[in-house]
Amino acid sequence: MKRLSFIFILMFFAEIGFSQSDYWQQKIKYEMNIDVDVEDYTYRGETKITYYNNSPDTLRKVYFHLYFNAFQPGSQMDVRQQNLPDPDRRIGDRISKLDSTDIGYQKVWSVKQGKVDLHIDVEGTLMEVVLNKEILPGRNTVFYINNEAQIPVQIRRSGRNNSEGIKLSMTQWYPKMAEYDREGWHLDEYISREFYGVYGTFDVTIAIDRAYTIGGTGVLQNPQEIGHGYQRKGKKLKVVNSNKLIWHFKANNVHDFAWAADKDYQHDVRELNNNTDLHFFYKKGDDKRTKNWKELQDKMLEAFSFMNDNFGIYPYSQFSFVQGGDGGMEYPMSTLMLGNGSSVEGIVGLAVHESLHSWYQGVLGTNEQKYPWMDEGFATWAENLTMAYLYPEDGENPHKSTYLGYYRLYQSSTSEALSTKADFFDKNFDYSLSSYSKGAVFIAQLGYIIGQEKLRITMLRYFDQWKFKHPAPNDFKRVAEKVSGMQLQWYFDKWINTNQGVDYAIKEVISEEGKTNVVLTKIGGIPMPLDITIVFNNGDIKTYYIPLRMMRGVKTNETKYPREVLKSWPWVYPEYSFQIDAEKYSIKYIGIDVSERMADVDKSNNFYPKKEFIFN
Ligand SMILES: [Zn+2]
Repeated sequence: MKRLSFIFILMFFAEIGFSQSDYWQQKIKYEMNIDVDVEDYTYRGETKITYYNNSPDTLRKVYFHLYFNAFQPGSQMDVRQQNLPDPDRRIGDRISKLDSTDIGYQKVWSVKQGKVDLHIDVEGTLMEVVLNKEILPGRNTVFYINNEAQIPVQIRRSGRNNSEGIKLSMTQWYPKMAEYDREGWHLDEYISREFYGVYGTFDVTIAIDRAYTIGGTGVLQNPQEIGHGYQRKGKKLKVVNSNKLIWHFKANNVHDFAWAADKDYQHDVRELNNNTDLHFFYKKGDDKRTKNWKELQDKMLEAFSFMNDNFGIYPYSQFSFVQGGDGGMEYPMSTLMLGNGSSVEGIVGLAVHESLHSWYQGVLGTNEQKYPWMDEGFATWAENLTMAYLYPEDGENPHKSTYLGYYRLYQSSTSEALSTKADFFDKNFDYSLSSYSKGAVFIAQLGYIIGQEKLRITMLRYFDQWKFKHPAPNDFKRVAEKVSGMQLQWYFDKWINTNQGVDYAIKEVISEEGKTNVVLTKIGGIPMPLDITIVFNNGDIKTYYIPLRMMRGVKTNETKYPREVLKSWPWVYPEYSFQIDAEKYSIKYIGIDVSERMADVDKSNNFYPKKEFIFN
């Protein structure tokens, strides 16, 4: 008996050894008081940070990002962009031309731990802080930071006076603590691409000229007091008499805080459901752009309902669409995005993409710098589905242009795999087609491998199990494996770590004693299970399924036609043949993956006879 229970205990620990129970993450509480001078584009900040060390390690140093320092001539962002073959046109050589009144800076006057002044060392956009007292595992400490910042001319994401005239786009704007996680410190300097942060609470007051309206992360705590924001009926206004208003925001379970301010913001609030309101901040006017911001609102109510149903329930009480920044950029509970003067569908597409980052970045807090495909790719995949729902008349395959983007990447002479860190991509072309297109195809193609229904469950379970955490690729893989019952390591290894492609071909169709032999070849480096569809001349349709041996599993039949599961295909074999119990002359078409979810880089050889096969 004893021996049995000992084995039982061993099994129990072996089980949790592979579960999330050894997962930990740091926690932070920011309490910031910000005083903004809109005339000279500066602000002063006093911040109290309570930092919880949930790691098993003793910390003797901590680090902060000072992103505004990137907007100075000679910064890494400046130099990097000028040395890329295809620089971001928004940046180009603009940073090199900034004078002292136009640059951004983040000056930290002091960092205290408790009452003790700490030694700080600033290099570029990173500040190292040597602690007076180490932080033991499971303990917390309190920092007090005094800083002053100059808000740069808007060049990338943050800054003053953007192209649409928004006064302040305040993103990457405060001394932000670097994340320490299972992989160690993440001390990426701001070179241009993407972020990572510590989950926690932001309690922020912003004193600003009373003519301004603020929108961004968090929920406004004092709408009645300042006469702004979403005022519930029946409450009396209590306006503070001063040149400035103090806006008080709170946000829980977020890893960043962004805001924007302008004198001309129109602020509309739409109720999504009992839990969530959607807020819209955009320039007042009667031009086409303003009208598009109005028309956006109904579409986003529809979009959020669809997204809640398909990707997991949005967990915050509000989301804000804020005109600001450049292009579109995701932040917790908000996005800063440009308007669109030409088409409503254009601004809806952008708003859908950026708000989907609430799922794939805000709530599922993957490290965007290290795994850019896990937020951009996943958001793009979900955007395609959401847009197909909002605009069913657009028809066709919702992922079509995403696959075309991936095929362009495959055909280019790129040497950088999807696993490349965002800032390490040497071409913007590679970065964007990899992260967005190849990352989205990763998910769409996973639907082909494990089946659409299993993919749907995988995405919901992934959201549920990893919300407010920092999932890495293997965490997502384990969810998909458990849901599908299949082994998927091969897919992650091949798709993420190599530039190989999928290419299968029908080599020969041979008549043999009243039956038909089909010979297939594997040309590409990435193996796949195969769905084969046979259409007979009499109109009958039959499908065959060839499992990939190392998947150790069989997908359920996704078609309404009869299916025969053939013996599995070990990936090292270049050829495979199977027999159809029918005369060759009775066969009209044979096609590999007529659903076109498998990203076959050469479809010309997927059909017999060789011609375009349209399947309904
Ligand atoms: Zn994105």
